[in-house]
Amino acid sequence: MKWLPETFRSRLALAIGVLALGVGLPFYLYVTHVYGQQLVREREQALHELAEAVASVVSLNLEERLREIGQVARLSPELAGARAEEAGAATLDALQAAYPVYAWIGATDAQGVVKVATGGLLVGRSVAQRPWFAAGLNGPYLGDRHRADLLQSLLAPGASEPLYFIDVAVPLRAPDGSVSGVLSAHLHWRWAANVVGAIVPRKSARQQIDVFLVDQAGHISYPDRALGADRVPDGLVSEVPQVLDSWPEGGEYLSVAVPVPEAGPASPLGWRVVVRQPLTAALGDLVDLQRAVLGVTLLASLVFLLLTWWGARIISRPLEVLTGLALRVERGEEDVVLDAGARSAEVRALSTALKGMAATLIARRQALERSNHELEDKVAERTAELARSNAELERLARHDPLTGLPNRRACDERLALEFERMRRTGVAYVVLVLDVDHFKLVNDSHGHAAGDAVLRHVADVLRRQLRSTDFVGRSGGEEFLVLLPQTPPDEALRVAQKLRHAVDISCPPAADHVTLSIGLSEAQPEHNSSDGAVRAADHQLYRAKQNGRNRVESSFMR
Ligand code: GH3
Ligand code: MG
Ligand code: MG
Repeated sequence: MKWLPETFRSRLALAIGVLALGVGLPFYLYVTHVYGQQLVREREQALHELAEAVASVVSLNLEERLREIGQVARLSPELAGARAEEAGAATLDALQAAYPVYAWIGATDAQGVVKVATGGLLVGRSVAQRPWFAAGLNGPYLGDRHRADLLQSLLAPGASEPLYFIDVAVPLRAPDGSVSGVLSAHLHWRWAANVVGAIVPRKSARQQIDVFLVDQAGHISYPDRALGADRVPDGLVSEVPQVLDSWPEGGEYLSVAVPVPEAGPASPLGWRVVVRQPLTAALGDLVDLQRAVLGVTLLASLVFLLLTWWGARIISRPLEVLTGLALRVERGEEDVVLDAGARSAEVRALSTALKGMAATLIARRQALERSNHELEDKVAERTAELARSNAELERLARHDPLTGLPNRRACDERLALEFERMRRTGVAYVVLVLDVDHFKLVNDSHGHAAGDAVLRHVADVLRRQLRSTDFVGRSGGEEFLVLLPQTPPDEALRVAQKLRHAVDISCPPAADHVTLSIGLSEAQPEHNSSDGAVRAADHQLYRAKQNGRNRVESSFMR
């Protein structure tokens, strides 16, 4: 694998770095994916619970208002009497003082003319056309939010902002049980802010959670100017929390809508509580956690990598030192101490093993060098011995063991050599063939050993008489061959006579008398081979034997 770094340190550091990432990244992915989904579900659940709580409190509060006005109508018969204005004003003012969100509380007669009211407002005026009056005659009534009409100029003269109310109305009954009028209260719309503000936790604003009251038509009634648009998105219908991107502000919101339980027995309001939170805010913790996990993973990987890099150096340093020492041993240094000073048991064991190996190798090398030297000495000795043996063999192969003279084979070689030389130089040579006379008799009368002694004696005589440039050899049994190079025929004859004479006068031990017959011939350049001159000399020897022995015969002696 070419992409892998070469050194042990880098590989180990890389492996640990990858391992740290391998542990950290799955955790990061888990946090991102699984925990992210779980977090979204939890946030949706929390928003849903908040919406339910708000819806429930709004509903309970409306119910309470309805019950309150109903109680006042039942317990205050003076409101339905003829002197309602004098007798009831104090009751209504006390009620308003107890709950200042009541903007106006008033009682009418059966025709819709206001008989008594807080602050005396609208007293004597007809409200027969107001929806709450007609509905209130029939039973408890709860009206949707609406703009103030008659009361706007009376309650907030000169205000630029319109007033919004919700109306509560119940029938007033005469002691006989017949409906004698309507008791009604108008609640300032700031009631909604009071109710919702009391239930929504403060931290919701920090978490960018918005809570809306929405009417049946989808218009946002609370808070007043919270949105770019005054409607919630059309898709927001089910109670199931969802991620919506159709809010006018743009961006994704976790959104949920919960219906407000109906408080009044009639005329359902169809309100909903809508709660939303930007997805980014809902997942804010997740993003923080992701960053933390990623950061810790990367940091841990880096720290592990650096620690490993540093730690691996402690491990690999002795190995590098050992490698350097081993290389010195390889180069032939013998006094190297293979000790890296390592503390780890493995490297110490490696040091010891290398030390042992180096010692063994050095000892083997020295032994090898020693045995090489011994072998070289032995080879030289054997070579010399062989040369000596070869020389001896050579000598034996070409010398006669009895007399020490060149043998038949050496005679033939010398003849061929002299013949070649004559061919080259044109200088002739003389061939002498010598034979001991009646040698058989020596053997027969004195024994074979005596015969041998005679042969040795003749050889000695011939050797002594001849020049160093001449040649004498034993060519067979009691026959000898002499070559005289560069010797004229008459000179050769003289040499032959000298040889015959020298043998004749000497007295070999254990022999009565020994003589030689000698045949001479001169080799000529025109001869085909060296044999010609030898055959001619043999022929002359034959003649010498025929002519009485102990004599010299030659082809050129006439
Ligand atoms: P001639 O005068 O005709 O030459 O008679 P001769 O007896 O010398 O010749 P012959 O050929 O009849 O006998 C030669 C003898 O030489 C026969 C052989 O036993 C003997 N002889 C040959 N080689 C040796 C040797 O090495 N030692 C001994 N002791 N005798 C040898
Ligand atoms: Mg013979
Ligand atoms: Mg003989």
